[in-house]
Amino acid sequence: MQVAVDGPAGSGKSTVCKKVAISNDLMYLDTGAMYRSVAYLSLKFDRDKLLDIIEKVEFIFSDNGSKLSLKIDSMIEDVTDIIRSNEVTSIVSDVSSDELIRKILTNKQQVIALSNDIIMEGRDITTVVLPNADVKIFLTASVEERAKRRYEEVNGLTDKSYDEILADIIKRDDLDSNRGVAPLIKSDDSYALDTTTLTLDEVICEIGKLIVEKRG
Ligand code: C5P
Repeated sequence: MQVAVDGPAGSGKSTVCKKVAISNDLMYLDTGAMYRSVAYLSLKFDRDKLLDIIEKVEFIFSDNGSKLSLKIDSMIEDVTDIIRSNEVTSIVSDVSSDELIRKILTNKQQVIALSNDIIMEGRDITTVVLPNADVKIFLTASVEERAKRRYEEVNGLTDKSYDEILADIIKRDDLDSNRGVAPLIKSDDSYALDTTTLTLDEVICEIGKLIVEKRG
């Protein structure tokens, strides 16, 4: 069973997918965390070295996909917090528009999906990574609602105001949706789910129904 979920920043993908994974016995894969890790590594290495490292890095997810460590050669680094920093968030969309980086990560994501029943979320999962997934969902919400949710989520962890978070999301939406390679778009065969006025439980229930229908 492959469930592919795409959507813009703050649409609730991670929260929803983690819960759906547990209730439907699926592995959860947060591909945004993989791109964030590469953005973090790009702060330390030049592009050639970076490409070399991404080829061999092992992404070790734990706690139902909430935690992430990178294994490079024999070194293991927990990057769970650092990949959510403002510095990484501000460069991740630029780094993600690199065609070669995308090719390497896409391949790793497809390999993981080969041997697991999975729910995978990101920006190009329904269109590029798993175009033949059993269930394909495009999750969205109004930009104001997404900024509000993100503001409440990071409250106390950052000094950013609601307006700054809103501006960040608008900028990231624009970069992710208008890039040349694997842009964020809703494919015709994806199920559109607008969560602006829905509760978390309602969204989970809706996706659960689609999975049950597919499983027969
Ligand atoms: O999902 P999250 O907001 O953590 O993703 C961070 C960034 O990673 C996105 O803004 C996007 O630029 C990039 N990304 C991507 N393709 C994916 C997942 C994330 O380009 N499949």
